Amino acid sequence: MILLKKANELRRMLESENSIGFVPTMGALHAGHLSLVERSMIENKVTVCSVFINPLQFNEKLDFEQYPVTIEKDIMLLENSGCKYLLLPTVQEIYPTGIDNLPRYELGGLETILEGKFRPGHFQGVAHVVHRLLDIVRPNRLYVGEKDFQQCMIIRKVLDITNPGGSTELVICPTVREPDGLAMSSRNARLNEEEREKARALSESLSYIKNQFRSTPFPELLRQAQNILEKNGVKPDYVEIADADNLEIVPAYADNRRLVALIAARAGDIRLIDNMPLN
Ligand code: AMP
Repeated sequence: MILLKKANELRRMLESENSIGFVPTMGALHAGHLSLVERSMIENKVTVCSVFINPLQFNEKLDFEQYPVTIEKDIMLLENSGCKYLLLPTVQEIYPTGIDNLPRYELGGLETILEGKFRPGHFQGVAHVVHRLLDIVRPNRLYVGEKDFQQCMIIRKVLDITNPGGSTELVICPTVREPDGLAMSSRNARLNEEEREKARALSESLSYIKNQFRSTPFPELLRQAQNILEKNGVKPDYVEIADADNLEIVPAYADNRRLVALIAARAGDIRLIDNMPLN
């Protein structure tokens, strides 16, 4: 595996490649990230990863400062995965003109609901880093996790805005979970033993919704799902059922819509998100 810090060096190396899969990450890699790499390895001649903790997408200073960093382990895991290029850029390399006065992306209503509502500015930060990384790597396929359901939609929007010819295909990969159902996440590393135990409630609550959504009215179902979280000492920011195509909140069951249940909740100080497609 070739490690690079400079965007233009990577660009030069990729110039002659015509089958590139790209997996952008913020590091602290786990099996969820590696599932994206594995998929990319199958579908492309060359797989490129990036590890970059993007300051622009953090709306809480403490969350940024305490984001887990395990770079040596990450390098080892990627080396073993068969990834060919790893970009480890500095903030200056990603944002050469600085992070103030950057233009805004027109992300529409997606930016102000669910995660967007609770994390102001987050998706603009995501849009900036994705745009910049795509510009450097110019992949044939971009691999992202359904774990970040709303982020997948934002990235699709960024691709529509910045890549109108559609030369990059977006590949959305299923959520990888721990044996007890907890969605793998870099932030899980910050949970203490008690919080880790509580965090199971997110997937438990989503599974409950999935089992009941055809038979229980949604307001009642969402109350019960919230109760599962609260009973386990997890504080929900939101529990919602939405249209999986546009994330519009759906008030009642309709079998002609693709539905997804989404949760954001805190176990102790650690904010976690998860979702489950329902039908
Ligand atoms: P992150 O390092 O959290 O920015 O994640 C990098 C990529 O890995 C994103 O596309 C995530 O959606 C994806 N990802 C994170 N956790 C999981 C998981 N448990 N299963 C599948 N993909 C994931």
